[in-house]
Amino acid sequence: MATDYFGVLGLARDASDADIKRAYRRLARDLHPDVNPDPEAKERFQEVTRAYEALTDPEKRRIVDLGGDPFDTGNGAGGGFGGAGFGGLGDIMDAFFGGATTRGPRSRTRAGRDALIPIELDLDEAVFGTVKELTVDTAVLCDQCAGAGTAPGTHVSTCSTCSGRGEVQSVQRSFLGQVVSSRTCPTCSGTGQVIPQPCPKCSGDGRVRSRRTISVKVPAGVEDGMRIRLSGQGEVGPGGGPAGDLYVEIHERPHDVFTRDGEDLHCRVTLPMTSAALGTTLNLTTLDGEEELDVAAGTQSGSRITLRAHGVPRLRGTGRGDLVVHVDVVTPTRLDAEQEKLMRELAALRGEDQPQSNRDAQGGLFSRVRDAFHGR
Ligand SMILES: [Zn+2]
Ligand SMILES: [Zn+2]
Repeated sequence: MATDYFGVLGLARDASDADIKRAYRRLARDLHPDVNPDPEAKERFQEVTRAYEALTDPEKRRIVDLGGDPFDTGNGAGGGFGGAGFGGLGDIMDAFFGGATTRGPRSRTRAGRDALIPIELDLDEAVFGTVKELTVDTAVLCDQCAGAGTAPGTHVSTCSTCSGRGEVQSVQRSFLGQVVSSRTCPTCSGTGQVIPQPCPKCSGDGRVRSRRTISVKVPAGVEDGMRIRLSGQGEVGPGGGPAGDLYVEIHERPHDVFTRDGEDLHCRVTLPMTSAALGTTLNLTTLDGEEELDVAAGTQSGSRITLRAHGVPRLRGTGRGDLVVHVDVVTPTRLDAEQEKLMRELAALRGEDQPQSNRDAQGGLFSRVRDAFHGR
């Protein structure tokens, strides 16, 4: 449904162009965010500005007169400012107030950017934490001028092009009458200041590039892709502005023995068939040192043995994940005559010397193959 833009401005449908202009000016003076900090006023200000634009922009006004809504894009997203006709709110305000609401010169100093440095860690460094020395190459404050950008004994001076306002104005005639528009001063880039004699070390930028070494404490339990934030260690900004942050991004090198799944570690061991059948004790190298691992008699290939709290410490919280040992049982591939004889005797004792079938008791091979086919 089309908005009643006349109503928004408190006007009747037969209001003249002069009425519209007067009503908008009156409302804008009360509601403009520079004057009225109330968030509701801001919303109302946008509403009346939109109404003003709808009723004064010839193309939009044509749509309003036809009973439509020039800001209704059909997807409920509304229109927005800065569309055809006007260059946005700033232009409208400038049109009325002749730059009276300008923001003044912008600061010569601006905040610096964040910096990102990747580091590579071995698994045990990620698990137990470490301290890393990093070489960082960023912009730092110029020590010669302390960020001021001026040569020793000199000072910044007021820009003569804009008299320190940071912008220059021009006057044009348009359908609204006389329009004063302002643009950023080209001499001082809007800062209102110039540096007659720049600092020789930083050429007036207030910062220089520098290589330095910092140590980074990596907490126990970090993971690939995580970032450690070092506040204020990033780039110093133009004009010696406050430094951004430095982010150290963790890249974990793959380990020969262990793979990581969050807070758990996994490894594989191979066991001879006889050890798996009889049970044994394994000497297992963990990140914490040698451990004895009991393997129960009758352990199957593919089974897992869990060592509690031998994984990765929890970065948030307490305790550690587990170390999961995956067991592969190896079938002997070459038997000498005596071993083969013993094996046959064992098979006979176990009644396993007959040909096997896929219709054996326990479902056996056939049902397992069928389940595998159907993803069960
Ligand atoms: Zn200037
Ligand atoms: Zn300097």
